[in-house]
Amino acid sequence: MDLKGKKAFIAGIGDDQGYGFAIAKALAEAGCEIYIGTWAPLINIFTSSWSAGKFDKSRSLSNGSLMDYCKLYPIDASFDTPEDVPVHIKENKRYKKLDGYTLSEVALKLSNDIGNIDILVHSLANGPEVKKPLLETSRSGYLSAISSSAYSFVSMMKYFGPLLTAGGAALNLTYLASTRAIPGYGGGMSSAKAALESDTRTLAFEAGRKWGVRVNAISAGALGSRAAKAIGFIDSMIEYAHNNAPLSKPLESMEIGRAATFLLSNWASAITGTTLYVDNGMHAMGVAVDSPSLSTQEDKILVPTS
Ligand code: NAD
Repeated sequence: MDLKGKKAFIAGIGDDQGYGFAIAKALAEAGCEIYIGTWAPLINIFTSSWSAGKFDKSRSLSNGSLMDYCKLYPIDASFDTPEDVPVHIKENKRYKKLDGYTLSEVALKLSNDIGNIDILVHSLANGPEVKKPLLETSRSGYLSAISSSAYSFVSMMKYFGPLLTAGGAALNLTYLASTRAIPGYGGGMSSAKAALESDTRTLAFEAGRKWGVRVNAISAGALGSRAAKAIGFIDSMIEYAHNNAPLSKPLESMEIGRAATFLLSNWASAITGTTLYVDNGMHAMGVAVDSPSLSTQEDKILVPTS
């Protein structure tokens, strides 16, 4: 995979633990230039941790060098234009010294700095009531989840799409809760992921016709990222996948990074509007083979042994 000379903008990197970082690293391995969008409130902690070498181990590439980024932009994907930012956010101490973090402004800055990009990645989500069952989710919590986690991609396509070169590609990260009930993934986040996947198809058509750009989603398996840990039951979901997925092995973030690199490269030049599962096959299962309901001898599920 050779992406030398290609430029990628990846929104949603706040540390070295999540899928955004892994995708950036896999793209960098392929020679791509990396531009990062980091959630505005995390800018200081992220840049100081980077400078202090806290991410050096994760940044190391197979050729012995460290992954670097060309430029980092503070971003808040909940806002499209400066007029959308409420006063309490503008005045918040973590935003006050920053400017130009709405999506239209970041796209303009990127355009002024480098002109075009070849790759756009949306690796971000936020649902303030994610720990609440849908039945207990407020209207504002639900709309906030949809706004930050799904409309943010529509808006990114609207503002960054014109920067993408013909043949370029965009990608977002989704989760199985879009099509299957996953108790615990609440607050409207399952609805947001369903919207995101539907939008991926519609945007693939519109961006394909308008700019010759491809749009895909990766439905990733459970990973103990910062965002996932905030939800609370991620360790159990990782264990569940290990016990029940077709591939009973840990899921490494770089496996998502490499699949993303494929989808974002010309090797996937005829793939658009698709959701690719990168989850050790978890999505293909219809029963939990470790369920206590299947524990009696007669009910035991046939699990092939090695
Ligand atoms: P992560 O914490 O690395 O990434 C989420 C990022 O979103 C963070 O950096 C956070 O700062 C950023 N963010 C939140 N609100 C934002 C906003 N308004 N504007 C800009 N940035 C904002 O965690 P992750 O789990 O790697 O998440 C990346 C993507 O992968 C998300 O879309 C998530 O839903 C998806 N995903 C995660 C898992 C998992 O198990 N971790 C599984 C499937 C899909």
